[in-house]
Amino acid sequence: MADDKLRQELLYMVKLTSKYDLSRMEVVEGILRLENERQILGSVFGKRFKGRIFDVAAGVATDDKCVICGQHAENHIICQHCIDTIGGSEYAKSKFKAEEEASKNKLKFPKLKLPKINLHKFRLPKLKLQKPQEANDKSIVKDNSDIKVSKVKIVLQAFAIVCLTLILFLQVYIFSVWRTIPDYNPKEKARVSEHEQVPVNYQEEAYAQLELDFPEEEGYTITYSRMDVDYTGRFLLNKGDCCLEIEEQLSDEEKYDYFLTEEVYVFYISYLKEHTGKLGIAEINKDGSIIIEGSFNDGRRTDSFYKFR
Ligand SMILES: [Zn+2]
Repeated sequence: MADDKLRQELLYMVKLTSKYDLSRMEVVEGILRLENERQILGSVFGKRFKGRIFDVAAGVATDDKCVICGQHAENHIICQHCIDTIGGSEYAKSKFKAEEEASKNKLKFPKLKLPKINLHKFRLPKLKLQKPQEANDKSIVKDNSDIKVSKVKIVLQAFAIVCLTLILFLQVYIFSVWRTIPDYNPKEKARVSEHEQVPVNYQEEAYAQLELDFPEEEGYTITYSRMDVDYTGRFLLNKGDCCLEIEEQLSDEEKYDYFLTEEVYVFYISYLKEHTGKLGIAEINKDGSIIIEGSFNDGRRTDSFYKFR
């Protein structure tokens, strides 16, 4: 045990001597400070070594004898022979080996364990650099698709505009047709007599007055029907007035006078010429005032009398 301690001391001294530049005071101070803490160099050799290295570093003259064997030492501390002997001993070799192992383990221990990465599985994303031409082509393709989308939009917009315009035109057309409907059944002024009223006392006189407006030579046929009564007011209207239209607007007071009756001569009037046929009734009172009903007023209400003369 004591031998081992000594061997350890000697080896330690050899190592320090061969490893460090002991002529430098800061190195020696470091060693001595460490020695105060750990108390390794406790043997006679160790104590001598500590004194010697301090003297060497401090520049104090020494006897230049090896602190171990007493032979001459070039470095003023340990001779080369002792360095070689102790450094090459079995103990030193085993110590070095042990230290090597320890240092290896020391190195191993703090080694960070990195997660195992399977480099075969680990793949970098494929970075495919496009050739300038290819890139241009792709951008052109993208541009083309954008253009297609915008084209579709334009087409749809145009289609919508056309549809809306057509609907608008259709509405305008319907409106114009609606506006022109009266033109297909125009409300023309009622046909009226150009002759003056002449009082009549007989059926023949009445016939003669009607024949002025509906002459036989023009295709009219007048046929006497009967004596009858009709409302007095109808014969007092203005020429062209529609009896029913006037009667709808009468006040109660006006109706009282209007709906008095008087005797009238009643005639049928017909007109037949090629493709045209007209038929109606004419009434004429004693004053020679005439009202007519039928298709003589160019499509106006045929169910109502008009003041004719
Ligand atoms: Zn020696």
